[in-house]
Amino acid sequence: MFGAVPCIIPEMSQVERLTGTGFALAVHGGAGTIPRDQASLSCAASYHDGLRRALAAGYDILAAGGSALDAVTEAVATLEDDPLFNAGRGSVFTHAGTQEMDACVMDGINRRAGAVAGVFGPRNPVRAARAVMERSRHVLLIGAGALAFCRGQGVTFCEPGYFHSEARWRELQRALEHPDSEPPQYGTVGAVARDCRGNLAAGTSTGGMTGKAPGRVGDTPIIGAGTYADNATCAVSATGHGEFFIRHGAAFATTARLRYAGQSLDLAARAVIDELAAAGGSGGVVAVDRTGVLALPFSTAGMYRGYVRDGGAIHTAIYDEPYRPE
Ligand code: ASP
Repeated sequence: MFGAVPCIIPEMSQVERLTGTGFALAVHGGAGTIPRDQASLSCAASYHDGLRRALAAGYDILAAGGSALDAVTEAVATLEDDPLFNAGRGSVFTHAGTQEMDACVMDGINRRAGAVAGVFGPRNPVRAARAVMERSRHVLLIGAGALAFCRGQGVTFCEPGYFHSEARWRELQRALEHPDSEPPQYGTVGAVARDCRGNLAAGTSTGGMTGKAPGRVGDTPIIGAGTYADNATCAVSATGHGEFFIRHGAAFATTARLRYAGQSLDLAARAVIDELAAAGGSGGVVAVDRTGVLALPFSTAGMYRGYVRDGGAIHTAIYDEPYRPE
């Protein structure tokens, strides 16, 4: 049902030269069967704008000498604030009509990681994940315990109305009417970065999948499934059918291909996405390796995505069309 679309960024020779002090950042806003009809095409500009805002937020940090970790946190938080994307404010509904968000950050310097799952209330679940990483002894906090921790740490909360959107509610009604249909679109958001010191980081945030069971946790907050970062290899953030990404350990598998098989990033990321697709799990990743090479492969008809490199323009794309420079 999903066409395989190779999507390594085109001007790879330029990317290969990006070493030393060069920084690089890539983001995604979800993958899936993104329709190409007129109505969707008119919305496309808003998606490009949202991706550009996230890339600009991360770029400003990296250009000022900031860390990859700060850049991915701000890029993901920017996408969480945009109701178009399925994370934070724009999160989808469970089949019980609730919203349960998952998020994760990982620092490639020392493989520190923080994640939250099944939370509702923090405005930016990625900041909650960061608080878990930096201010707790744990990696993953869930549900009520995660919320109590966040309140104690001064994480910003919003009222329920902030997260409610009629469009998402209608998506749930459609999913409830046709429970066996393939999820039309994955909307998780994520970012990976290499900063000017060569450090890597990854961050991912999601409302999960429309009509999911309450209590279901996807790949996003599972270290090595939807998110991973290790300075020795690469940083990876995924979007797609989470159960498959968990079962295949997709993000870690990508790093392992670099570490143990000496594969290039583009080969490794593409191979993992192809392996998942062959097993029935569609989606995509954004990834950056320790030299700043970027790869953004996906197995769905489209993936909202973009990248920017040190001194370069912001590039965004949705389908297999050439990237749109700013
Ligand atoms: N991977 C997410 C999940 O399974 C969904 C998505 O990417 O939109 O929760």
